[in-house]
Amino acid sequence: MTSTLGQELRIEDYFERYRDVSGEVILKEDILRLGLKFTEAALTRAKDHRIKSYYLFSFDRISHDEMQKRESARVPEDIRFSKGQYGLRPTIVRVINSAETKYSIDVIDDQLMLLEHGVPIANVEYPPNLRSCQTTFEDGVTYNQVVARLFFNSIAFLTNYRICQYWGPKEECKFCDINNNVRALRKVRGPLEVPKAFKDAQQVATVIEAYYREETDPGSRMLTIIMTGGTITSKVNGRNYVDFNVEYVTAVRERIGSRLPFVVIMEAQKKDDVKRLWEAGASTYNPNIEVWDKRLFQQLCPGKDKLIGRDEWIRRTIDAVEVFGEGNVSPNMVAGVEMAQPHGFKTVREAVESTTEGFDYLMAHGVVPHLDSWCIEPGSALAGREPLPLEYFVEIDRAWYETWTKHKLPLNSGWGPMGPGHATYGNSGYIDMGNR
Ligand code: SF4
Repeated sequence: MTSTLGQELRIEDYFERYRDVSGEVILKEDILRLGLKFTEAALTRAKDHRIKSYYLFSFDRISHDEMQKRESARVPEDIRFSKGQYGLRPTIVRVINSAETKYSIDVIDDQLMLLEHGVPIANVEYPPNLRSCQTTFEDGVTYNQVVARLFFNSIAFLTNYRICQYWGPKEECKFCDINNNVRALRKVRGPLEVPKAFKDAQQVATVIEAYYREETDPGSRMLTIIMTGGTITSKVNGRNYVDFNVEYVTAVRERIGSRLPFVVIMEAQKKDDVKRLWEAGASTYNPNIEVWDKRLFQQLCPGKDKLIGRDEWIRRTIDAVEVFGEGNVSPNMVAGVEMAQPHGFKTVREAVESTTEGFDYLMAHGVVPHLDSWCIEPGSALAGREPLPLEYFVEIDRAWYETWTKHKLPLNSGWGPMGPGHATYGNSGYIDMGNR
């Protein structure tokens, strides 16, 4: 690897080095890679905003126990940085709590600021807490606990099944802390946080309808619905994996119609089952392959490999384009996990080449994969790895963009708009690529 924490270089050194990539992409990826610290003043400012919900994974680099100021109960869901000495366009980023990072949020002259090594570099905003998100059901559960609003409210994110039936080291994906996240949340927030493993479909539809009908300013509008959950290998609530998911799509579509995209993230299904999701009203289908390299897929995703296998996974993903159409099949790749040691690639060049091969193959078949930057969570099997070099993230976003441009494909649907100053998705810089 060419560097470790990247603490030694300033972000503007990378702006200079990657002049063909916008500063918004580079800074966003560096924040996702290293995480954030908040001062007491910055935490106090978050009080009237939407607080991090831990709706799926922890997306933190430290555990709840390691947070000295109870950050997990106090930080905002996401931040938006802009302006500052580099004239940055508004860019939304997931909040990742970290102890070792050069980035912090503080209040300076009454303004929330992003600091690098203690030097203010950009203004910061927190997401508004919408009235609908604060509404509660009779049992005290809030609407936001049922369906989380992310990335300045642009996404309604439903985790319909909070645990994964891939269980233990021989099945769970090595980068994933879904099962540990639920255990930790119940401990720190109490049983109301995750009262049961699955959500009631009609309750979900009630929440999404309330989100849909709430009048907000355009900047807080719900743009898309994304649904995921742990893999179901047996049955939940008497339903198999596909029936279980179809029920939610149907319930939501009956309440709000077809205007908004509805993304369903599931393991790779056979074509007949993919058709059932489409007929129920899903608009986008994401069978997350996570990592392209065959050897690493087997090693990092043992449950997926055992149940379906990597080659069959790819076949089913490509078949799904016949049902959903180009741009509407968008498996995730966990950007950077292909460099996880000791088994992963040793150099940025090898890692980027391998994943770009995956982009090219999938895009040639009408599939538009998307990226989530790997967050090294303490509750995952890969806990304790050092953050990857920033070079990797900039180069993989650039490779995605060049490959996507080459194939003249639409953007992956249901992930919000694209480009610096426009994108809302906060978990990768690939979507902020485009005109500088
Ligand atoms: S399939 Fe893998 S990534 Fe998805 S929830 Fe299960 S263990 Fe996590």
